[in-house]
Amino acid sequence: MAKYIFVTGGVVSGIGKGIAAASIGRLLKDRGLTVFMQKFDPYLNVDPGTMSPYQHGEVFVTKDGTETDLDLGHYERFIDEELTKRASITTGKVYSKVIRNERRGDYDGATVQVIPHITDEIKNAVYQAAEESGADVIITEIGGTVGDIESLPFVEAIRQIHSEMPTEDVAFVHTVLVPNIPGSDELKTKPTQHSFKELMSQGIKTDIIITRSEGVVDENLRRKISLFCDVPPEAVIQSDNVELIYEVPLVFHRQGLDHLILELLDLKGQPESDGSWKKMVDGFKEAKEEVKIGLVGKYVELHDAYLSVTQALLDAGYALGKKVDIRWIKATELEDDNVDEKLGDLQGIIVPGGFGSRGMEGMVLASKYAREHKIPYFGICLGMQIAVIDVARHLANLREANSAECDVDTPYPVIDLMESQIGVENIGGTLRLGNYDCSLAENTLVRELYGTNKIIERHRHRYEFNNNFRLDLRKAGLVLSGINEDLDLVEIVELTEHPFFVGCQFHPEFKSRPNKIHPLFSGFIEASSKVKK
Ligand code: GLN
Repeated sequence: MAKYIFVTGGVVSGIGKGIAAASIGRLLKDRGLTVFMQKFDPYLNVDPGTMSPYQHGEVFVTKDGTETDLDLGHYERFIDEELTKRASITTGKVYSKVIRNERRGDYDGATVQVIPHITDEIKNAVYQAAEESGADVIITEIGGTVGDIESLPFVEAIRQIHSEMPTEDVAFVHTVLVPNIPGSDELKTKPTQHSFKELMSQGIKTDIIITRSEGVVDENLRRKISLFCDVPPEAVIQSDNVELIYEVPLVFHRQGLDHLILELLDLKGQPESDGSWKKMVDGFKEAKEEVKIGLVGKYVELHDAYLSVTQALLDAGYALGKKVDIRWIKATELEDDNVDEKLGDLQGIIVPGGFGSRGMEGMVLASKYAREHKIPYFGICLGMQIAVIDVARHLANLREANSAECDVDTPYPVIDLMESQIGVENIGGTLRLGNYDCSLAENTLVRELYGTNKIIERHRHRYEFNNNFRLDLRKAGLVLSGINEDLDLVEIVELTEHPFFVGCQFHPEFKSRPNKIHPLFSGFIEASSKVKK
């Protein structure tokens, strides 16, 4: 029988509710429990796959090919588990399912309503996650803030779960902002009190309050929150501003949060943490030597669009005792006459994923510059396609080579639409998504880095390396080091006689963990740190 923790947010969004939830997951895992996490997103999109990165930040992809909110990246990195489609529930998904059921006649003539039909579907999503994962604890984060119209059915569903279940099987955690009033330099608890009341009016009495604030929530304030929000003082937990996000579980642990949750959920006798997470964080803090990495992309003004890539770079650096200094470079601003100035002092260049043609020429320039100046180059998804275009144009003499995504009339579509994608009309959920196998060729850099000949990686793209150009590109020196044998697709390319020039069609950033760095990220940072500037 699983236990359930529901994490809601109050006052404002964007105060790190996802990291708080993930940190609880880490704490419980450290106490010997198995954990599954899920996120409720109250928007009407079926998934964030169709949203602009400016709206939503990164789209995270699970192993089973679900396009999800970026909080799932935090969950996976903190709890070190691969999640599934059960981890991402949106209003769009819930309504689609209920309407499909209704059309099939599944409701026996009933009037289909938010309560009970929508709420039942939401509850099923929680129970199914418990059943499928078999985890001891299911942690569910409710997106947005309490009081939003959109999140009402979700809050109602978790209220119902609480009343269906024995009290000791369900715990509620509410995260709030305790604002600092400029001028008077005073922390105010009133918004917390209001948020507590709002949650109560929806039938939920929180067990724990996690505060975020600029400044210390002292004993006085803690007592005040405790009194007004009817939780014991020790259940008011402050989420300090920390240097590394991975410190948050340690901050919570110091305040006894794991102990408190285990008590609430009647999970006694769990072993103490073995301290490995703390050791990892302490080690990360020792990192000194800087490594300057340029991230060349289309959405660089919004760092969240590259969250997992950024985190994987930083983590790989920390694990090697280095501080990665990411330089954000707008691909649209890179030109022949400024490339030296913009890229000249970098020790490594990464071109991550992206869609559409904007900025592509700047990215090709970055690949060419890295290749010619022997600066480590790491191309991910679009970044791999860019490397292929660069090699085709400049080493294989296919001057007008391009991706068909960018120019449908190119005489050399070295990157082209996959056969299976021709005629696909819906853009939602139709990319090549999730896990695919890849075989690594002998005597290649990637084979050495992975230390194995078979890997599984996650994908999210529509275009592919065009097999008609395999011969030309190999003659030009491109090594096709990773192949998906079932579909005969090129998944990794690399160049020899270069310290590190690797492009992969998949997204290794989704599998990198602070305590299990992805070999391609380690390899890239290691090679970059050797570049003297
Ligand atoms: N736009 C490219 C494609 O669809 C690359 C996608 C990506 O980088 N995620 O194939």
